[in-house]
Amino acid sequence: TINICWLRRDLRLDDHAALYHALRAGRPVLPLFIFDTNILDELNPDDARVTFIHQEVLRLQQELKKHGSGLLVCHGKPEAVWNELVDKYDIGHVFANRDYEPYARERDDSLAEFLSSEQIGFRLFKDQVIFETSEVVKPDGKPYTVYTPYWKRWRQKLEPFFFAAYPTEKYFRHLYKGEVPVPPSLEELGFGQAKIVFPPRQDYRHKLADYGKTRDFPALEGTSRLGIHLRFGTVSIREAVRTALEEKAEVWISELAWREFYMMILWYFPNSATYNFKTAYDKVQWRNNKAEFEAWCTGQTGYPLVDAGMRQMNATGYMHNRVRMVTASFLTKHLLVDWRWGEAYFAEKLLDYDLASNVGGWQWAFGSGNDAAPYFRVFNPELQAKRFDPDLKYIKKWVPEYGTKKYAPPIVEHTFARERVLKAFKKALG
Ligand code: FAD
Repeated sequence: TINICWLRRDLRLDDHAALYHALRAGRPVLPLFIFDTNILDELNPDDARVTFIHQEVLRLQQELKKHGSGLLVCHGKPEAVWNELVDKYDIGHVFANRDYEPYARERDDSLAEFLSSEQIGFRLFKDQVIFETSEVVKPDGKPYTVYTPYWKRWRQKLEPFFFAAYPTEKYFRHLYKGEVPVPPSLEELGFGQAKIVFPPRQDYRHKLADYGKTRDFPALEGTSRLGIHLRFGTVSIREAVRTALEEKAEVWISELAWREFYMMILWYFPNSATYNFKTAYDKVQWRNNKAEFEAWCTGQTGYPLVDAGMRQMNATGYMHNRVRMVTASFLTKHLLVDWRWGEAYFAEKLLDYDLASNVGGWQWAFGSGNDAAPYFRVFNPELQAKRFDPDLKYIKKWVPEYGTKKYAPPIVEHTFARERVLKAFKKALG
């Protein structure tokens, strides 16, 4: 009999809750990864995230080989894969880390049912977050819906117990010993090799001390670029917190808490993935002009900071946070295009795309979300550029034709757009 540790968005062997508990349970542990066609079928064949996951899966495979073990890599719908696995292996328990997105919750609920019908145990652990959704709540047990009190409580509770590492390496001798099939190639999965350079996982410590001063300037390398690693679990959230505490990087820790805040919101309010958190905003009349949306997607709005951001994301899979706020505000407020269109476009392009943070960020920018920017705060993209890219370094990098005749005129005049959206908000919100 073996135990299986199913890796999902936790692609590492160090400081890993489920793997630690699996290894300590005694039976040989076979680590598993499934290329889930429910997810892959929705993606473009050139999606860079699949290249990243594939590369990390091969790295895990190599690491496990050093211990005489391997990673079992499957491809298909999880249900079908599990049906085959229970036939092929004598499985005692399945271990995995808890995942909070609506799709993952459904997937794990049905797996729990199936495994239990096969007399196989299924154990889920907290790993993706410092605090479980139920661990930071109001005194009456209800979820916070505003960030600042959530953050205060979160920070107050941050004892070493919550960010201590799980020393998996002590128990690697309990890994399953034996050959596992060669993982499928990217081509076999139906995907091409992306040319994007992924940010390294070990290059953030030196940025943390000055983060509070540099984080808002897109021309500086002021932020950690850890997004993709936290998304796919190639870096443990506990390691990130330990590093931040060593560097006394309080502002950065508060950003990690935003990540958990949005995860918690999505857990308690799964409808907010597609509906306005503040329902009064449902009445806002969108314009949804397709040509304007296309101009925004391709970075041709005539507002250089907006265009620079969109072009950065199209080319690299990354956009700086300040610019995400400006581009999202521009689409929803200046152009009155539904935030869901923008959210879907970001979802396609961002390497660090995360449903909870993306929906949270978009609803924040539009005004309909938790602790959102008030509707009457309409970012002026020109002032934002002057303030956060005063030397035009970021703009010139991504919009080299800026300042020449080749650069398109603004798609809409700022004062006009501002008045238009304020009218739309007043009509909707009364
Ligand atoms: P740092 O600034 O170094 O922050 C460290 C980590 O903290 C990030 O990697 C991220 O995990 C977390 N974090 C930081 N800021 C936020 C925030 N505002 N909300 C939630 N988590 C945060 N973040 C995503 O991870 N995925 C998304 O899909 C996403 N979509 C966004 C959409 C919009 C419209 C906006 C305004 C923000 C979005 N963000 C998203 C939040 C933020 O922009 C990114 O997390 C950040 O830019 C990633 O860069 P970094 O890794 O260098 O972050």
